Formats: sequence, structure tokens, C-alpha cells
Amino acid sequence: MPKASETVLEIDLKALEHNFDYLKSKINPNVKMLGVVKAFAYGSDAIEIAKFLQDLGIDYLAVAYTKEGVVLRESGVKVPILVLHPQLMNFKAIIDNCLEPSIYSSRVLNEFIGQADHLSQKEYPIHIKFNTGLNRLGFWENDVDHVISQLKATSSVKVKSIFSHLAASEDLLEKDFTLRQISDFTKSSEELINKLGYSSMRHMTNTSGILNYPEAHFDMVRTGIGLYGFGNSKSENKKLKPVASLKSVISQIHMIEKGESVGYNRSYQASGFEKTATIPIGHADGISRQFGNGKGFVFINGRKASIIGNVCMDMLMINVTDIECSEGDEVIVFDSSNTAENLAESVGTISYELITAVSQRVKRVFCR
Ligand SMILES: *Cc1c(COP(=O)(O)O)cnc(C)c1O
Repeated sequence: MPKASETVLEIDLKALEHNFDYLKSKINPNVKMLGVVKAFAYGSDAIEIAKFLQDLGIDYLAVAYTKEGVVLRESGVKVPILVLHPQLMNFKAIIDNCLEPSIYSSRVLNEFIGQADHLSQKEYPIHIKFNTGLNRLGFWENDVDHVISQLKATSSVKVKSIFSHLAASEDLLEKDFTLRQISDFTKSSEELINKLGYSSMRHMTNTSGILNYPEAHFDMVRTGIGLYGFGNSKSENKKLKPVASLKSVISQIHMIEKGESVGYNRSYQASGFEKTATIPIGHADGISRQFGNGKGFVFINGRKASIIGNVCMDMLMINVTDIECSEGDEVIVFDSSNTAENLAESVGTISYELITAVSQRVKRVFCR
């Protein structure tokens, strides 16, 4: 790639393919793979990533909200798309766009059956979600009989899969809890399948679940962060390649004297003669104000420069007193060696939050 001459998010599709292959190598050949492309494919670009995953032969995609799925359908994505958190008002759009809803409560099931009937659907694919301990969305184990009675009363929907979500798959100190989730899910899903009288796919693991709990792969696995290059552990991170690199450029360099301040509210004061650089990326681009005042950092010509003062909406300033650099030089916010995970850690957050925050204002460029 040429050096950045404005703020860009570079998306390395070769790295995505590498991660896809690596995750595939962790599952049996008969286990399907679902790629999670919610939130603009974790802040990158949902359409490009979905199409690329489709070309790689992914079995399923998932988004969080209906609108995200509609965008993919409108851009020609053909693989099945699971909508993880559909809202009742979007059920018509779900059916019109051949999206497949996660059904997580009797209220949702009832409404969806109503809409499917209304649109004269037969055996429309739905996915039944069990809550096994995350306590976010899902039926409880003792809802099975009620679900069955709702399903037996209609032929407009058909259960294509049954799934659940792990709460702490990356944390081996929570192994007992996770194993309990897995066994509860095994039990509830078996009971549901027996009572349904037809078979249905089952899936439970996210990226860390794929890596840490092979016994929970069932018929399909769901991977998000792994595709984008993070494995939630030092050893897995080594095997994966971060897909997104956030780069920028030095707009201006200032020489300031002791006692001068930098940025809004004058929160940084120079302790001597210093050199600062202004970078065209701010909190509106996804670098939150938490990174200001010495917490966050960027890299210039391989050297680490800390963010000084408050992060502005469209810019931030860094201290480059000891760094050989000029206006127009490339700035690395994160890339495959100075990772988003490291930068996220500087403010006590995780790679997921930092990469998904990169706003749509930032230009995306693809390396193929
Ligand atoms: C976001 C999400 C995933 C993907 O999780 P990763 O940790 O990014 O692999 C899987 N399943 C559900 C239900 C999700 O919401």
C-alpha cells in the first residue's frame, strides 16, 4: 500500500482470508461457519467483507439489526443471513429480504408467526435462541413446552437452527461456568428437537468458543472478531492477522515553549521547549476523548508518540519532541504490529470497541 496521505482505514482482505482459513482449520469439515458482519463488519465495511466471505464459501452471515441485513441483500449478498436482534416492527422487512430472525421470546415468536402468516409464508426459517447464562436474550430452558405449542400450531415457520451464546468463552477461569452453559444448551436443544419432530442445526460458539471449546462446535460456529484478526489471547493473536489498519498523516507541526498549552481547555501544558504534531482524526472518527491527555498514542516513523491534551472532534495533537518527522509524514493509529488491542488497552477497553468505533467518515481502502 502507498503511504497514507489522509486518514484512511486500510482493510487487508488477504489477512481476512488467512483468518478465515485459520478458523476453518479449527473446526471439523462438516461443521458450518457463520461470519458475523454486524456493525459494518466490526467497523470495516460490511458489504465488501460480506461479499468476500461469500466468495470464500462462508455458509452463513449474521448481523445484529434488520437494516444491516437489508443493506447486504440490496448489494447482492446471497448467503443466508441471521438477524441476531430483530425488532418486531421490522418483521415484514425481514421476510421481504429473505433474512432469518433470531427468535428469543414467546412475544417475538408470536409476532413473527403472525407476520409470516400474513405474508402467506410456509416453513419460513427461524432460529430459536436459548439463554444459558449471558442473561441478555433468549428463551429459558423451561420455555420449551410453550415454544413447542406455538410452533405446532403453525406451518408458516420452521426452526432452522437452535443456538445460544457463551458469556465468558475467552476466560479460562470461568471454564466451569462455560461448561455448564454448554451442557444446559445441549439439554434444552435436544429436548426442543425431540419435541419438534424434525432436526435442526445447533450452534453456540463465538471466536473464543471456537478456539477454547471444540466440544461446543455442534453443527456451526459463529466468528466475528477472529475474522478481523483478534483471538482474545496472546497465543491466538499470533496466529491471526489484524485486517484493519487505521492510518493518518501529520497536518502541521508546532514548536511550543515551556508553559504553552495545547488544545481545548488547555489541559496540556508544555514543560519545556516541545514539538507537537496535529493529526486529522478526532473523536468523531472513533478516537474517543478517553485517549487524550497522555493515555493513547500513535506511531510515526516507527516511534511512539503520545496524544496530548483533549482529543478534538476532528483532530488530535501528539508530542513529537523526540521524533524525527515532518508535515505530511504517515501516522499509524493501529495496524498489524501496533495493534488496536494494544491501543484499546491503554484506556481499559477491548479491540472490539476500538475497531467498531471507526466512523463512516473515515475512507476505507482495500488491499486485495
Ligand atoms: C457478536 C456475536 C458473535 C461474534 O462474537 P466474536 O467474539 O466476535 O466472535 C457471535 N454470536 C453472537 C450472538 C453475537 O452477538
